[in-house]
Amino acid sequence: MRTTIGLDEFRAARLSLYGTVGLVPTMGYLHEGHLSLIRRAKSECESVVVSIFVNPTQFGVNEDLSKYPRDLERDLSLIEPLGVDLVWNPAPEIMYPTGYQTWVEVEALTRPLEGAIRTGHFKGVTTVVAKLFNAVQPHRAYFGQKDAQQAAVIRQMTRDLNYPIEIIVCPTMREADGLAMSSRNKYLEGDDRPAATVLFRALSAAKSAYESGERNAEKLRTLMKDTLASEPSAQPQYVSCADYDTLEELDVVIGKTLLSMAVLIGKTRLIDNFVLG
Ligand code: AMP
Repeated sequence: MRTTIGLDEFRAARLSLYGTVGLVPTMGYLHEGHLSLIRRAKSECESVVVSIFVNPTQFGVNEDLSKYPRDLERDLSLIEPLGVDLVWNPAPEIMYPTGYQTWVEVEALTRPLEGAIRTGHFKGVTTVVAKLFNAVQPHRAYFGQKDAQQAAVIRQMTRDLNYPIEIIVCPTMREADGLAMSSRNKYLEGDDRPAATVLFRALSAAKSAYESGERNAEKLRTLMKDTLASEPSAQPQYVSCADYDTLEELDVVIGKTLLSMAVLIGKTRLIDNFVLG
């Protein structure tokens, strides 16, 4: 496994990769969710590139950029045994040189849900992913269903910009009690950790109502909100039952549907989702 930092160094190493290339973009502090994407890429591609970059432009001014967990040595030791060929860990000034002024922005899909709360977040995500696509030129790129809106936005960007890249969305990996794995789970201390399972419990309640025949989207949203209300430390930011492709809120559940939510557990902001249909 080769680890590179500079763009020229990365490009030279990329040229020596063989066959179909799979890219797994990450912000590091890797967990089993990231590793599941890498394993999938390894099973489908002849060469695998992992990028590790805490992208400053996708963090809002009051968000956790400076305290976002980082541990490159640990990350490298976790991915080395998986047979990753090339790691790119660029410095921020490589991705955003002084005077930087070019952005990639997806419109309607970035307005609801995460986009409504985290202003500018997806502009940062799409810009950095476009830059990664340009440098890596992968045949396939792997993303997690955990960040459902991000996956939808990347799919849209890939289509709109004619990138010849297949976007593969992989299932959410969870802890034994249902909590979706996330680098931010590290922030959950004391009682916040068991309380954080309320997202999974709320989504599960809505899913079982759906499986029992409930198709009224407002009733599913209410069921999720009521479950969240049972946990005193949970403060929901949004609770959604939306069309899977357009992310527009539904009245009636027909076809593929995304149940999703963002919830503060104490000071930690968590997101999770289930897909129905
Ligand atoms: P991040 O490092 O948080 O930017 O995540 C990098 C990639 O890993 C993104 O495509 C995420 O959606 C994906 N990912 C994060 N958590 C999980 C998880 N629990 N299960 C599956 N994929 C995940």
